[in-house]
Amino acid sequence: MSKLLTLILVIVAVWSLAKGFRRKDPSRHAPEAAPEQMVNCHYCGLYLPQSEALAEAGKFFCCAEHRRRAG
Ligand SMILES: [Zn+2]
Repeated sequence: MSKLLTLILVIVAVWSLAKGFRRKDPSRHAPEAAPEQMVNCHYCGLYLPQSEALAEAGKFFCCAEHRRRAG
């Protein structure tokens, strides 16, 4: 019976360690801390962040050339 208790304690210890490592990992990497709104170019369909896109009449474009061609 004490052998089983030791086994359970070992499993719990390993599990909590693994859980701790997993919790530490994403904060270190922080892949998308501030996810930006992504938009599609209305002309060619290119996917780009809204801050890099050119907006006109509620539509987004990847460059001035595509905005001019679509307009
Ligand atoms: Zn485009």
